[in-house]
Amino acid sequence: MTYKSKFGFGCMRLPKTDENDPTTIDQDLFNRMVDIYMAKGFDYFDTSYAYHNGASETAIRKAVVERYPRESFRICDKMPTWALTSEEDNEKFVNEMLERLGIDYFDVFFVHNINTPWYKLAEDHKSFEYIKKMKENGTAKKIGFSFHDTSELLEKVLDKYADIIDVVQLELNYLDWEDPVIEAHKCYDLCVEHGLDVYVMEPLKGGVIVNQPEEIKNEFKEFNPNESIASLAIRFCASLEHVKIVLSGMSKMDDLIDNCKTYENFELISDEERLFLENMALKLKENLAVACSECGYCIDACPEMIPIPEYFNLYNTSKNQPESDIYRLYFDKLADEKVPASECTYCGTCLDYCTQKIDIPEELEKVCEHFEKGFTPYAGAP
Ligand code: SF4
Ligand code: SF4
Repeated sequence: MTYKSKFGFGCMRLPKTDENDPTTIDQDLFNRMVDIYMAKGFDYFDTSYAYHNGASETAIRKAVVERYPRESFRICDKMPTWALTSEEDNEKFVNEMLERLGIDYFDVFFVHNINTPWYKLAEDHKSFEYIKKMKENGTAKKIGFSFHDTSELLEKVLDKYADIIDVVQLELNYLDWEDPVIEAHKCYDLCVEHGLDVYVMEPLKGGVIVNQPEEIKNEFKEFNPNESIASLAIRFCASLEHVKIVLSGMSKMDDLIDNCKTYENFELISDEERLFLENMALKLKENLAVACSECGYCIDACPEMIPIPEYFNLYNTSKNQPESDIYRLYFDKLADEKVPASECTYCGTCLDYCTQKIDIPEELEKVCEHFEKGFTPYAGAP
């Protein structure tokens, strides 16, 4: 295995022609990005039934499957665990995914987003038994699950299923490495103890790691003017011995070019860099109001249709950059007929969906207090 083979093309945040419609993937741009990625010798695409409301799989069929020989690329797809209502649904979803992608086997197949409530759904509907059969009959070459919960739950799942699976996909980045909620380090060690490969999602924590105020960006520049913030974060993950894939969700050509550069000239992270990142993690956390990775899983779950990650993004930005015109943006979003954060009914439906274990209604209340209390729109920051 070379470090180059670790670069996975995450297809959850593909370029769009309409920012408000997740299904409007910019196919021409995606095709061009795929061509560069493949020409440079990379080959791994990660998608799911849910990404871009199903359009991610179709876009991969058009950009990759219909334009490249099957043996020249790898595809990972994932069972929509939260949507299972019966054992038969496992097969129904798998057939639908194969059809959307235009393939007859998956290189990797996961039970998607195992957390406490959805592990129960996977167990009730025998999803692990189902993916085991997929591997036996050749529908999937490797199997496993993606995971968003505590090390305690991970241990429980691995004790039961480590013998039948090959890999676990973890949220792993230097910000979450020692985080007491995400527990990336502990989860990584558990997978290694069970002899499993680790695939990494969210190496930039959904952009949180790169979207920083100028003074933080300057510290990175001073540390190494020739390397991007993203590149250092990716090298942190890819340097781990048992990490075999690091996904990068790329919505711009520039992201792709920067990532290609990182892997083409790959260097293991040094002790000095590791120490620098440990210190930067502390600073980044100080600046973060809500640890939202903008995965978007909560959006469709909310019966009030509150654009939760957009509000959290504005909230984080306003804490980082109080001098910006982010207050105007907040009120523009409301004026743009989006549902205000104050419409939250505290129903709690979103909580099972949150990959970061955020108390969403409580944080939305803080968003309201921060932006709305005693503030006159367009008058600037209070
Ligand atoms: S608790 Fe609030 S944000 Fe969460 S699903 Fe209910 S209404 Fe939406
Ligand atoms: S609030 Fe949670 S589920 Fe929603 S986008 Fe943020 S991290 Fe994802």
